[in-house]
Amino acid sequence: MKNMVRVTSIAVFFGVLAVLIMIGTGLDFQRPMEIYVEQAPLATVPLAVPQQAAQMKGKEVSKPIVITADKDKPAVNAAPVSYKKPTDKTVYLTFDDGPSDLTLEVLDILKREGIKGTFFVLGKEAETRPEIINRIYEEGHTIGNHTYDHRYDQLYGRFQDFWGQIKKTEEVIRLITGERPQLVRAPGGTAGHFDEAYFQLMKQGGYHVFDWNVDSGDSKYKGVPVKDIVKGATTKVKGNEAIVLLHDGKGHGESVKALPDIISYYKKQGYAFEVLSTKTQPVQFTAQKAARKASQPSKQWITQEVVANSALFESGRTLAVEFGGLETAFAAGEYKLVDGRLMVPLRSLVERLGGSVSWKSHNKTVQVKLGGNRWDADPVGGLLLSHQTGGKPVSSDVHLIGGTAWIPIRDALDFSGHPVTRVTYEESEYRVLTL
Ligand SMILES: [Zn+2]
Repeated sequence: MKNMVRVTSIAVFFGVLAVLIMIGTGLDFQRPMEIYVEQAPLATVPLAVPQQAAQMKGKEVSKPIVITADKDKPAVNAAPVSYKKPTDKTVYLTFDDGPSDLTLEVLDILKREGIKGTFFVLGKEAETRPEIINRIYEEGHTIGNHTYDHRYDQLYGRFQDFWGQIKKTEEVIRLITGERPQLVRAPGGTAGHFDEAYFQLMKQGGYHVFDWNVDSGDSKYKGVPVKDIVKGATTKVKGNEAIVLLHDGKGHGESVKALPDIISYYKKQGYAFEVLSTKTQPVQFTAQKAARKASQPSKQWITQEVVANSALFESGRTLAVEFGGLETAFAAGEYKLVDGRLMVPLRSLVERLGGSVSWKSHNKTVQVKLGGNRWDADPVGGLLLSHQTGGKPVSSDVHLIGGTAWIPIRDALDFSGHPVTRVTYEESEYRVLTL
């Protein structure tokens, strides 16, 4: 019975009633009830971080266009969204391998023509040319992720390596623009590179993988002539959406020269120019048998890395916390709502509120200093121990996920001397108010 430790003699009077209420509202039991004034029970609040799988099923109304390169292999389903199908002919110009000096010329041309493009950039190049990333962003184009270094031998052996490069590049871009690119293009395309696990895990992680259905052919060999690039980039497509593959990386000067003619072709044909988005039905090549069978990541790795990642792209509420005159906020994806309970990473919470934590490996506990209080969290045993009261350890849902201690935010604030008085919720945020 982990539940009754902190029940005071007054609370005992209300014991049966309180337990019933707590079960009903999803609150955890060790809480001293008398100080909690809930504006609304959390259990009735719509989930900010819904079960991804459930959400995928509910929303999936159409599948990506799949170009079947391997006929006896079924296509892999992609993004879990309903796609916006343009009624007009639409072209998406995409530029891979930048940023480079050529990107600036591409941007000038697009500006002159009054159109937008999609840039699948390399993290390695973005790091050295943040000002170009910034300009792409500022001028309203879309930035996609094309991995960090584009080296096939580093990308297509193990999914974890591919993932690592996606996350690394994402961080580079996020630091420049403040946004995480959710669109991904595999170097060399997915054909022959992605097995089904790659497709599945990228989808599960919240990413949208785009191949193309019009290849300008500008990377077939060095120095493809302008006229051949124009010809390739204006190949007729089935359907009314054309995703055109071009390159703006170093050495692709001919592509830049070809660009005005490509644009003028699509304008004459009455195409609208759009940027790719998560609402665009992706074109994906089929996972081929010939593709490397990647070593499968463990279930645990997938849960920690991939499944958790998808929450980063959900437009859920932020979690604002008011604490002793300070305020901090967790973005959707940085916290979890589990069974109606708000959970946060212990270290982030404490450090953002001006406290400190240290890990004591001898007894596997986290020592916390926050709000003038000192307490220990034992995420292995699920216990909290206050230094102030010197009492017995109290059970808590504090636990480890991949080396990170997560804790119910109430427990953390309570032990830090500022118990939660109220949790309000609005369309865009939860707000936790404390004493
Ligand atoms: Zn590339």
